[in-house]
Order: sequence, then structure tokens, then C-alpha cells
Amino acid sequence: MESISKRISLEEKIQLLSGADFWSTHAIAEIGLDQIVLSDGPSGVRGALWDERYPSISLPSATALASSWSLKNLKIAGQISASEAIRKGVHVVLGPTINIQRSPIGGRHFECYSEDPHLTGVLASSFVNGLQGLGVAGCPKHYVANDSENERFTYDALVSEQVLREVYLAPFEIAVKQSDPWALMSSYNKTNGHPMSESPLLKDPLKTEWGFSGVVVSDWTAVKTVVESAQSGQDLAMPGPVTPWQEGLLGAVTRGEVLESEIDDKVNRILHLAERVGALKHSKPRTMASALDFSPRTAIRQLAADGMVLVRNDGILPLSNSVHKLAVIGTHALKGRIMGGGSATVVPVAPVSPLQGLREALPNASIEFATGCHLSDDLEELPLTQCSINHETNGIRLSFFDKDDALLLEEIRFASKFVKMDGELQKPAHRVVASTKFTAVESGVHFFGGGGTGSMQIFIDDTLAKSGQTTFDAEALLEALLSPPQMYVEKFLEKGQSIELSVHYTPSSLLAWNVVSMTIGYRAPRLSDSEEINFAVKLASEADAVVLVVGTTESVESEGYDRTDLKLPGLQDALVRAVIAANPKTIVAVNSGAPVELPWLQQTAATLVTWFPGEEFGNALADVLLGHAEPGGRMPNSWPFSLADSIVSNTTPLDGALTYAEGLNVGYRGFHERNTEPMFWLGSGQGYTSWVIESLNVPKQVSANSDLHLELQVTNTGNREGSHVIQAYLSCDSSSANRPSLWLAGFTKVIALAGESLTVSLTIDKAAFRHWNSGWEFELATFKLSLASDSSLRDAVQCDIQVVK
Ligand code: BGC
Repeated sequence: MESISKRISLEEKIQLLSGADFWSTHAIAEIGLDQIVLSDGPSGVRGALWDERYPSISLPSATALASSWSLKNLKIAGQISASEAIRKGVHVVLGPTINIQRSPIGGRHFECYSEDPHLTGVLASSFVNGLQGLGVAGCPKHYVANDSENERFTYDALVSEQVLREVYLAPFEIAVKQSDPWALMSSYNKTNGHPMSESPLLKDPLKTEWGFSGVVVSDWTAVKTVVESAQSGQDLAMPGPVTPWQEGLLGAVTRGEVLESEIDDKVNRILHLAERVGALKHSKPRTMASALDFSPRTAIRQLAADGMVLVRNDGILPLSNSVHKLAVIGTHALKGRIMGGGSATVVPVAPVSPLQGLREALPNASIEFATGCHLSDDLEELPLTQCSINHETNGIRLSFFDKDDALLLEEIRFASKFVKMDGELQKPAHRVVASTKFTAVESGVHFFGGGGTGSMQIFIDDTLAKSGQTTFDAEALLEALLSPPQMYVEKFLEKGQSIELSVHYTPSSLLAWNVVSMTIGYRAPRLSDSEEINFAVKLASEADAVVLVVGTTESVESEGYDRTDLKLPGLQDALVRAVIAANPKTIVAVNSGAPVELPWLQQTAATLVTWFPGEEFGNALADVLLGHAEPGGRMPNSWPFSLADSIVSNTTPLDGALTYAEGLNVGYRGFHERNTEPMFWLGSGQGYTSWVIESLNVPKQVSANSDLHLELQVTNTGNREGSHVIQAYLSCDSSSANRPSLWLAGFTKVIALAGESLTVSLTIDKAAFRHWNSGWEFELATFKLSLASDSSLRDAVQCDIQVVK
């Protein structure tokens, strides 16, 4: 790399350190360097275009993948992401998100794997290995302590060195050591006083102690300084073209404020990345595998089922195929929430709803649907079947005009959200008009809206119905792009009546990039919630069994903000109670990406946590409910009964600072420390069969700094094939060091036939025995090893292990 970088000027080197546009780096033709394209993200690869005409496979979100506790599954998810990246011309996938689920209200909880650092780290490594094995870079993010969203650009995480090392840096350390990621993203927040884009932690431990060989990419717009950030281990400032480095770094180097050797190190890392992903032509050509040897659609259905956690079953599941009359209830049954909100969002290919999945799986049953209740007043997508252009095509006409009002581009679109990234339009759009002919299919009050950051006008039949300026936080421009603020008008329409609807939008000039993000929204006439609940109750009372899907909404669980409570939105709790009263054979599917309160849990016949399971949701749900697939999930986090019971219940910084006062005792560890019970322990969940650990073979002693190898015999004592996760926890009551109450040290997933006994080996990495005391130390002490089905340790098989010299 050094020889290549010598062939370019200092100006070219500095240019290379800032993005060329929103998603790519600069090309330098004379050294055969192409642009490197980066794209979100963790649950599907969006690509440089955010456009329904170029959809992406939506994979299960992180909590759903992590619940499988399966390294194999995570590798498959990485491989599917790689094949999507290759299809979309992407070289770096901005994921996995490996921050710790410190609090259940964290807005991006759904996007992270677990509250446990070991589980997070090993799952992330497997995902990155899956990606990079096919020539696409992984980019674990966000380094470090970016564990909540309130004041996310500025908060200062105050974390002791030991806690930082053992909990928050630990997944990154594991990922660097086990998967050698070719990129890594630094975060927005500060940690112990330093903005992470200029933190000493980027060099030490990341680049020095751990030997990270990749590129440190900034989070979008996170680089705010020239000298401080350039002198740290930050390598690439994104997005471009305008960054503080692009404006001031050349001068800083010329004045000697930043060493040229620092610049060379960054350039060499970027060239190395380019070589690894095949973007450097004169280097050894890489052959990227562009096809998988399995069907991604079949695979994501299995991944989703493997992540569903059965938390209660009175025996009703698996449902018999002979169910005749099923009531399917809930807005999320009609349109399941397949992913969380924010930058992890992709435009899916063909999402399957729970209702659709169940109807396909049970073609001979009578399946009736009821909404149950409405979860929010937010506008939704315009139903395309009611939108037409020129009386023939279903769709929306989108027209872009320049500042002289000359038409730049006109296109027919099939969505309600429109994003144009820089480069897609030759000139900046001064005005955008979305128009369509809308025909009502029912009489009543209809809502029509438009969203964007700037001025909006809504016209109905060429008459101005509403005009105004949408407001947004100038600090949070990315949020404004992701979920632009909306305004709306109400209009009474008779069934069959048509109107010409057009929304005019003039984007604010505050955005540094030539990016347009606009939405058009709609809400159909509705029954009142009590009418909806009454109808649901009627269907439930007439059915053999009920599948009721409840969940969170995008305005509750998303990037950009934390939740304020753990309650299901709207009247869902009342709906569940009313439906159970009408039919006790009610199975509740919980479609959230993070913990929610389930005050009616014990009254349900069964409850299944589906998380955000990706676009095969409906099929995977039907597979699990009907027993064609095992509910393979075990909790990757603990669920408190209520927010007040959780270990960290407040994520609002105090004077800009978040003190990580719970220390090492995050999540399940904190419940042990407090001696209280969560609703669900980390690791918990049931399958359709039962398991027994018959015997355990483990040495009584292990040398400090050595792995511990153990062997156990486990039997599937049920009457069908199934899977189980055997978890190994350590604790050390006699320790003289500060230690968590217990910690996950290893796990293994077993799959066995009915009655089958398996001998399983399990290795506990030596790192599980170390602790940080201004450096890593191994204590010569007696540790308790517990092999259990979950972190409550209720059914644990235990023994003592002595760590000796
Ligand atoms: C998010 C990152 C994401 C980036 C680009 C940021 O706001 O924090 O996770 O990769 O945007 O979309």
C-alpha cells in the first residue's frame, strides 16, 4: 500500500479521507482506485439508492438474529447481506451494531444483539465472517458507549475503565480478534469527555493493543474538528463532500499541526480496504462470489423462526393443522413490523404479513381478521390501488424542478416515501411535486398529508388546502431525512369519489448535501377503538382459537430517540384482555424489537416474542405456530416486568452526562445483584420438547490464561426433534476483585431427535476468567461454573473450577 500511496499528492491523499458524497469515497484514476461504496446496514443492505424500485431483502433485526444463539445463523445473515451488497454495488456494509443493550428503553435496542458482551461479540464476529468471506467489508458500530439515543450527538458516557473494558469495549475486542473487520464506525457520543471521533480509544486499545487492521469510519457528520480528530485514530470522515477535513486538513498538515505520517496511515488503511473489497484495480484482482448456494428467502424464513422466543405455552402450541376457525387480530397482523426505524430501514422486496402467512399455511381453515385497535394517529402510506395516473397506471407522479422552475426529472413511483441522494439529480431540486388521482373506497373523513423539511403545500383538486413550514431540529438533520415532519388536511369523501391530490415541497437549504427526502401520507376513515375492540371480541368468541399480534410502532422504537416507557402503544393491553375474556385459547405474538410490558401474560394460552423478524415474518410465524419449525429463540436480554424494575430505567443525560452507575451489573447480572426477578431472564425461552443434562465432565482446575474444555451429555427427553441452548455462567464469590454477580462465559446450541442423547463439548475462552485492574489480570481463585438453560440458574448443574498458576 505504501508504494501506491507514494504515487499520489498530499492534496489527493487528503481528499481521499473525506467522503465524495453521501455514501462513497473518492476515486483516484491514476492509481486505479474506484469509489468505495458504503451502505446501511445491519438488517438488509439498502444500497446507495433509497427507492422502492430497487428493493432489498429485509433480514431479521439484531434481537431476532441474536435470539437464535446460533453462530451458524449469524454467518448466514452475513452471507445474505454480502450477496445483497454485491448486487447493489456496495463494498462496506455499515453493521453489525454491537452496542450493549444497557437499558430496555434504548431507541436502537432492536438493532443491537444483546445486553451481554460475550454473546454480542461472538455473534457479531460470525456475521462479519459471513460478510467478509464473500469479499464485502463489515463495519461494527458504534465505537463505543453509544448505548442510548437521547442527546445522542453530544452525551458524555461516564464509564469506569474496568466497566468500559469488560462490558462496552468487550464486543468490539472480540469482533476485532475473531473476525478482523475491515472497517469500524466511531460513534457520535463522548466517552469520558472525548467525542468518539477524536477519542484516544481509537488508537489504544483498538489499533495498538488489538491490532485493528481496517478503516475507522466516522458516524455520519460526527467529525466536527480538524486537528483533534485527524490526530486520533479516525481515518475517514463521512459523508462528503463537505467535511471539516475537506475544508481544513490540508492547511493543518502544511502548518505542521497534523503529521503527514498520520495522513499516510489513514490513506494506507483506505487503500488496504479498497484492495480487500476489490475497489483497487491494479492490485491482485478479487473474485467476489455473487451467488449463494442457498435460497436467501428460505434462509431468512428459517432465521426468523429460529429467533422467535416462546415465553409461555399451556400446551396449545403447536396448533393442530386441523384448526377450522381462526380469528387473527391486530394491526400488526395485517402489516407486521418487520424492521425497526432509522438508518437500519430498507425498502423490502415482498413482506409477508402474519395474516397472509397463516392464510397460506391453513388454506382450508376459515380465517377472519379484525384490527382490534389503532396504535397511532400517524399518517400511513397511500394505498397504491386507490392512486392512479392517467386513469390507467397505479402510482404517484413525482416531479423535480430546479430553481428556475425548469423540470429536472419526472418519474412514476409506487411508494409514499421518496429519497433522492446526491448524484441522482444533475442539479439541486428546488421544488418537488408528488401528485396522483385518489379514489375513496369508503365514505368518511380521509386524511392527506405531506412530509419534508422545508415548506409544504397540499392541493386538493387544484385548490390549496394547507400550506406551512415544517419544523425540525437543525442538529438532527439526519433524523429529518429519515422521518421528515408531516402536515395534513382532512377531507370528507363519499365512496367512489375521486380527487386530484398534489403535495408541493420546497426543501430547506440548510442541508449540506444535495439530498431530498419527502413523504406523502394518508389515513383512511376509522371505526372508534371501542367499535374495533367489540368487533375483535365478536370474532374471537366465534373462533376455535385466536392469534393476536401486538407490537410497537416506528414512533415508539427507532433510531433518534429512546422510549419513555415499556407499554404497548394504544389500547393493546385492553384489547388483549378483552379477547382473552372472549376466547381463552388466545395466542399472543409480540412484534417488538425490545422488551415491552406484558401485564396479561399469565392469562394467555401461549405467548411468542417474534421481534422484528424481517420480511418472511408471516411464513415464519405460521411455521412456528403450526409446529413446522421449532421456536428456536432464547432471550438475548432480560425483560423487566415494568420500566421501574429495570436495571437502567433512565437514559436522559443530566447536564449532558450519562453516568453508567450500574457498573458491571448490566441486565441479568443486575437482577442477580438486586436479588429480584425479571419477567424473562437472559437465555430463557421454551421449545416444543424438553431437555436434561445427564452428565458433566470438567477438569477441577485450569491454568490461568488457558481455555477450559468441558464435555457434557444432554438428552432430548421430549417426543419430537428440537433445539436447546446450553449456557455456561461463571461467578466468583470469594473474589478480591470487583466482579459482576455472574457472567455468561460460553454457550452451545444443540439440536437432537426425540429421545436422542448427545455428547457436546464446550470451550470456555480464557478471557472469561480475566478481569481489568489497570491491565488484564487472572485471579487465582475458585470460580463457580453453572451450566443452565437461562441466567436465572434455576436448573443449573454446578461445579467449582480452581484457577491455578
Ligand atoms: C447512524 C449510523 C448509520 C449512518 C448512515 C447514522 O445516523 O448512527 O448507524 O450507519 O447514520 O446512515
